Amino acid sequence: MDINSSASNHYKIICLGCHADVSGAGYALRCGCDHALLRTVYRDSRLAVTAEDSMWRFAAWLPTVDKLPTRGRSVTYKSEAFARELGLSDLFISFNGYWPERNAFLETCSFKELESPPTVQRAVESKVKTLVVSSVGNTARAFAHTVSTTSTDLKLVLVGLESAIGKLWLPEPPSENITLVVLQRGNDYSDAIALGDRLVALPGLTPEGGAMNVARRDGMGTVMLEAAVAIGRAPDHYFQAVGSGTGGIAAWEASLRLKHDGRFLEGPLPKLHLSQNLPFAPMVSAWNACRRTIDPSIDMPDAKKSIAKIHADVLSNRNPAYSVKGGVFDALKSTNGQMYAVSNSEARRAARFFEDLEGIDIVPAAAVAAASLIQAVAHGGIDDSDVVLLNVTGGGAQKLKEDKSCYQIKPDICLASPEADLSELREVLI
Ligand SMILES: *Cc1c(COP(=O)(O)O)cnc(C)c1O
Ligand SMILES: [Zn+2]
Repeated sequence: MDINSSASNHYKIICLGCHADVSGAGYALRCGCDHALLRTVYRDSRLAVTAEDSMWRFAAWLPTVDKLPTRGRSVTYKSEAFARELGLSDLFISFNGYWPERNAFLETCSFKELESPPTVQRAVESKVKTLVVSSVGNTARAFAHTVSTTSTDLKLVLVGLESAIGKLWLPEPPSENITLVVLQRGNDYSDAIALGDRLVALPGLTPEGGAMNVARRDGMGTVMLEAAVAIGRAPDHYFQAVGSGTGGIAAWEASLRLKHDGRFLEGPLPKLHLSQNLPFAPMVSAWNACRRTIDPSIDMPDAKKSIAKIHADVLSNRNPAYSVKGGVFDALKSTNGQMYAVSNSEARRAARFFEDLEGIDIVPAAAVAAASLIQAVAHGGIDDSDVVLLNVTGGGAQKLKEDKSCYQIKPDICLASPEADLSELREVLI
């Protein structure tokens, strides 16, 4: 394949199913092949890191031509207190949130803010007019923040829930380019996704794409890149809590690129340790049964009830990128990975433990990951001298609220159900 035929000259996008080059296909999310992710292939297999103090220091391995202004980046530091308690000599924390003392400025306090800048930039470069994001929390905030802190003309339609609008705060006034559509009480996240799927059938509206979007994955992949550069090598183990699985896939893809680079990784790929929150843990259930597909009746019976019980609600995705080619199943297989189920009480205990020792508040999903590390150590799965990376996927929200005033994103329209008549909404969008 000729790399110069692509949209930009530093990357091309290929389909993992048929290997077609879809670089020229604008904001492509798939090639037409069923059940295969697209993946970016970068011209430079040797990672060039710039001196920029933002995620764009990894622009050589991000699928955009230009760089939208952002201060956000992942930060890696070596743990002392938590590491000592666990008996680990080389535990590193990838902190993705707000913690000024550590130069961490993801102001919506989660690693979703590593996905939104390259995604919005890719959308603009692909001439997308309006991007639709179905989310009940961190993803909506991250995209709203990116649109509200840059001068992009891109319009954003957020699809959320009336019962969860309290989570839609920003550290700045929301941009006029944002339309918030909410579903009345009684609907859940899957209903928001169903409504989002209907909206993207309207002319001019484009789905952001979730795990299928290479810009989201490569943005999240900067967690692994940042860690490898900061530590001087790739870790032996990578711990993260997963809902859609996007971050786990991204960590694996970044590891494959680092392996190809040759300077950061000699032995096996970093082992993925991915966790979910009981009683809703469909990927854990399928993986432990050695199944590539999730069987809803076995892996998530009573999904609605189980989802209502979990502490880390961001992990409640019913349709994760698990079985698709290049997805979580393949990532776990390729890295000899493992999955963990964490109860609410384990997560709460891990959060207190982490916060007391490391001195920063973390979100429930990050507590699930911390609890999975505690489980792994207790079961003898980690050698004391192994290099371990714990992805704290969100934190510092309490600190941010002490430092800054927050602004609420207000709903523009409230619908009764995902099947509601859309004529009123069309008027709002025009
Ligand atoms: C979305 C999210 C996760 C799960 O990430 P995926 O890789 O998309 O499964 C974990 N933690 C936080 C804080 C999140 O916002
Ligand atoms: Zn294909």
